[in-house]
Amino acid sequence: NRRLIWLRSDLRMMDNILFSRDYESSEETIVIYFHAIHEWKLHKKSNIQRALIFDRLKYLYLLFKEKNIPFFIFEINSFSEIPDFLIQFMNQFSIQKLLSNYEYEYDESERDHAVHFLLSRNNFEYIQMHNQTLLEPGTVLNGEKKMYKVFTPFKKKWIHQLDRSKFNIETNHYNTLTDKIIFESAQNAYNNFFRDVEYENKYFYKEKEILEIFNSFVLNHLADYEFTRDIPAINGTSKMSPYLAVGIVSPQTLIKICIDSKIALDNSWVNEIIWREFYIHLLQAFPDLGQNKPFLQYTKFIPWNESEDDFNKWKKGMTGFPIVDAGMRQLIEEGWMHNRVRMIVASFLTKNLLIHWKKGQDWFMQHLVDGTFASNNGGWQWSASTGTDSQPYFRVFNPITQSKNFDPNGEYIKKYVPELKNIPRKYIHEPWDYIQLNSENIYYEPMVSLSSSRKQAIETFKFAKEKY
Ligand code: FAD
Repeated sequence: NRRLIWLRSDLRMMDNILFSRDYESSEETIVIYFHAIHEWKLHKKSNIQRALIFDRLKYLYLLFKEKNIPFFIFEINSFSEIPDFLIQFMNQFSIQKLLSNYEYEYDESERDHAVHFLLSRNNFEYIQMHNQTLLEPGTVLNGEKKMYKVFTPFKKKWIHQLDRSKFNIETNHYNTLTDKIIFESAQNAYNNFFRDVEYENKYFYKEKEILEIFNSFVLNHLADYEFTRDIPAINGTSKMSPYLAVGIVSPQTLIKICIDSKIALDNSWVNEIIWREFYIHLLQAFPDLGQNKPFLQYTKFIPWNESEDDFNKWKKGMTGFPIVDAGMRQLIEEGWMHNRVRMIVASFLTKNLLIHWKKGQDWFMQHLVDGTFASNNGGWQWSASTGTDSQPYFRVFNPITQSKNFDPNGEYIKKYVPELKNIPRKYIHEPWDYIQLNSENIYYEPMVSLSSSRKQAIETFKFAKEKY
């Protein structure tokens, strides 16, 4: 008997439940991965995340080979090709059973339904497991057995329900395969796949290195996280997001490390892991979110600003607001942006410029190494006041106040906006008068007035609410 494990956004063996399920002792394991070109384009997958995935696939290929597990990597165009492909593949290699972990995004769910339908019609078994989160979406519910729309009660219930023994599972079970022909086919598919792939990956792809970073974070930064997490000039966060996004490490592994290090789970870092869970649970409970619909219906009536010129200035970090420009340039340079700055630039785009959050969401997706639909959509809808438990529409971040509070010495700004590196500290958040006085033309004029654009945003939201 043979089982086929289909890896998607769970590119790992460690703490991957697919490698732990009980199965007949004679069942051999084969692993498969599809790179769906058209789908990646449609979903705006960034080059930097693609590159990380490619390095990870290469690494996994060798890891599996060492364990005598054939790993097939195929390039296809769209998800719609997958059901037929799988039937043919499973017939060719006499495989009876397919296993994968749930993905909750809209197109991914549709794809899996189609696979399920065709496989069951052809008498194959398809088993899906929940492994993207510590607690299964659909199981953390309020008194009316519905998904929470507000984070804090969700979090309380989540912590209450977390059963430590449940995620302490052994996940290194597999049976190896001896059929030489299958290994040759896998090798051919591999050579074929990587023949034309060009990429440059800047991130780690081995769990050993990634867990070293995490252990060092737990040892050196976790205790201060509550205070340092908001300061973008400090390396005070775990930087685990790229690896959680493509599934090289799982939240189970990270939480186990915290428990082993005797860290109480009600700390502010675990709080962020619960935000990640909240957004994934929301996506499963409200599939409309996966189709880019706002959670708060009235916001459909907002007449968004369509100016491409305004949008371009934001994208390129040419707004004239140093903290916003620093963030946007960090995104392009590193494929990552500090969370505090993500909130500042998102508020600036959606409130001060009144540009649709979906445009910001897409731009982030195209550049983030950690882009995931649930957290990105959640973060954008939170910032734009269109989501569940988002900030109220009349709360508009002031980028200058934010900058003074969270980058008081302008260290973060100077790192990413080098033209301001010689500006004295007291002018760094609002450099324009100083620049004019010294008749230097080194930086952009502020593209909007903060007070009038704030007022306009509030009025526009009010107008939409009344119209609804
Ligand atoms: P840490 O502070 O160490 O947090 C640990 C983990 O918790 C992170 O790796 C991440 O998985 C999760 N997490 C942290 N903050 C949040 C949050 N606010 N919401 C959900 N999960 C969180 N995160 C993504 O992983 N992918 C995205 O595409 C993404 N887009 C965002 C867009 C906007 C507009 C905003 C405001 C936030 C977005 N975030 C996104 C959340 C957050 O900014 C990043 O997860 C965080 O900066 C990653 O850095 P870290 O791993 O050092 O985080």
